[in-house]
Amino acid sequence: MLAKSYPYYLANQPQTSKEMMDVLDKYSGKVATRVAVPDAKAVEKAIAAAVKATVPMREFKPWARQAVLAHCVQRFKERREELAYALCVEAGKPIKDSDGEVTRLIETFFIAADEAVRINGETINLDLAKRLDGYHGYTKRVPLGPVSFITPFNFPLNLVAHKVAPAIAAGCPFVLKPAERTPIGALIIGEVLAETDLPKGAFSVLNLDGKHAGPLVEDPRFKLLSFTGSQIGWDLKARAGHKKVTLELGGNAACIIDADQGPHLDHVIDRLVFGAFYQSGQSCISVQRIYAHESLYEELKKRLVAAVKKLKAGDPKKKDTFLGPMIDEAAAERLHGWIEEARKAGGKVLCGGKRNGAMLEATLMENVPTSAKAHRQEAFGPFALLSPFRTFDEVVDMVNDSDYGLQAGIFTDSLSNAMRAWNELDQGGVIVNDIPSFRVDNMPYGGVKLSGIGREGVRWAIEDMTELRLMVMRER
Ligand code: NAD
Repeated sequence: MLAKSYPYYLANQPQTSKEMMDVLDKYSGKVATRVAVPDAKAVEKAIAAAVKATVPMREFKPWARQAVLAHCVQRFKERREELAYALCVEAGKPIKDSDGEVTRLIETFFIAADEAVRINGETINLDLAKRLDGYHGYTKRVPLGPVSFITPFNFPLNLVAHKVAPAIAAGCPFVLKPAERTPIGALIIGEVLAETDLPKGAFSVLNLDGKHAGPLVEDPRFKLLSFTGSQIGWDLKARAGHKKVTLELGGNAACIIDADQGPHLDHVIDRLVFGAFYQSGQSCISVQRIYAHESLYEELKKRLVAAVKKLKAGDPKKKDTFLGPMIDEAAAERLHGWIEEARKAGGKVLCGGKRNGAMLEATLMENVPTSAKAHRQEAFGPFALLSPFRTFDEVVDMVNDSDYGLQAGIFTDSLSNAMRAWNELDQGGVIVNDIPSFRVDNMPYGGVKLSGIGREGVRWAIEDMTELRLMVMRER
C-alpha cells in the first residue's frame, strides 16, 4: 500500500506543504497518492543547509558513512515489498521488474558501503631529475561539497541510488530532485536516510517539476550537477555555470547478431526480447536496432516475431505481466506516431504497432529508413527494428551511424570480431554475447556523443564527487 501522502525532505527532515502534487497510478490513470511540494524559500533553505553541511560531511568519517549506507541496505531489505509496489504503481513497471529494481537498489547501496572505506590516494614518484631529490608527492580525494541531482522516471529507485549512495560514500551533501511523475521511490529513500545520523543538512529531497528546478542547475554553490534524463541535459549543462556536470542521457542501442550465431539463436532471441521490451522499452539501453547477418536474418526474424507475439501485456501488478503501460499516453502517442511515419517511409511492421491509451503493443519493424525518427532518435518504448548486414565492416558503420553511443551488444563466437567491436564501436561500453541493456551496478556506465558525459557505477561517481588534492613534501 502507498501512504495517503508523502512529505518532501528539507535538511534531513520531512516537511508538509500546502501545495501538493498528484502521483498517478500509471496503469489505471487514477490518483494513487500525493506529495508535498516545496516553495522557492524551501529550495533556498535546502541549498543553504547543504552548504552548511559541507564541513560536517567532510568530517563525517568513512566508517560512519559506511554505517549509514549499511543501515539503508538493511532497511531497504525490510521494506522490499513496499518499495516494489510503489514502483509498480508510480511507474507502471511490472511487479517482477519492480522487485528486480529493489534488488539493484540494495546492491548499489551495498557497493557504496564498501567503497566508502576505500577512497584512496596515491604516492606520486617525483624523481624526475637530480634537482628533485628529496621531494615526494601524495594525493588524496576530498569531497567536492554540495552537489545537486536530477533523476528521470524510468528507474525511480536505482538511478536515485546511483547518485545518493556515492554522495554519502564520498562525503558530499546533496539536494535531489526526483522525476515529478515518479517521486515515491526517492521519498522512501529519504525517509530511510532521515533515520540515520547523517549531519544536518546532508540531504534534501525536493518534489519539484522541471520549471521550478532552476536553482539546482544554476546555483553556483553547487559544485556538481549530476543529471540523468533526456537531451534536455545539454541545455541544463549550458546553464550550469562553472560547476562540474555529468550527463547520463539516452541512446538508440544496437545489437549485432554475427554470422556464426545460428546454433545459439534460442538464447539470442530470448535476450533480444528481454532487451527490447523489458519495462516497455523504457530503458536508456533498450535494444532498438538489431543488425543480423544476412545468412540468418530470415530465421531470426521469424522466431523473434513469434516470441514477441507471446509477450503478456496488461496490468503491471499481475505477476505474469511482461509488458506494462508506457509512462503516459503522450509518450505512447509519440512513439506510435514515429511507427506510422516509418511505415509511410517504407518500413514494414512485423508485429504490434497498435496503441490503446498508454499501452503500446510490442512492435518490431524492418526496412525502416535510417532517416526515420524510429531509427535515428531514441524510441524509449516497446519498439525495435531489424536490418540485415553482409560484412563486419558494414555493420560497424551501421552501428556507428547514430548520434548516440551508450552501449552496444554483439553476439559472436569470433574473438577477433568481439575485439573489433570493442575497438571500433563508438560507445561507452560493448557487451559481448549479451544485449546492450546489460548493466551491473559496480561497472562504469555512461555514454559518448549525445548520450552524455561522465560515468556512473559507484566508484566512478565517487571520483566525480571528489577532487584530487596533492601534497608535495620536501625532505629537509
Ligand atoms: P526528462 O529529461 O524529461 O526528465 C528527467 C528529469 O529532468 C526529471 O526529473 C525532470 O523533471 C527534469 N527536468 C526536465 N526539464 C528540466 C528543466 N528545465 N530543469 C531542470 N530539470 C528538468 O527525462 P525522463 O522522461 O524522465 O526520462 C527519460 C530519459 O532519461 C530518456 O531519454 C532516457 O534515455 C534517459 N535515461 C538515461 C539514463 C542513463 O543512465 N544514461 C538512465 C535512465 C534514463
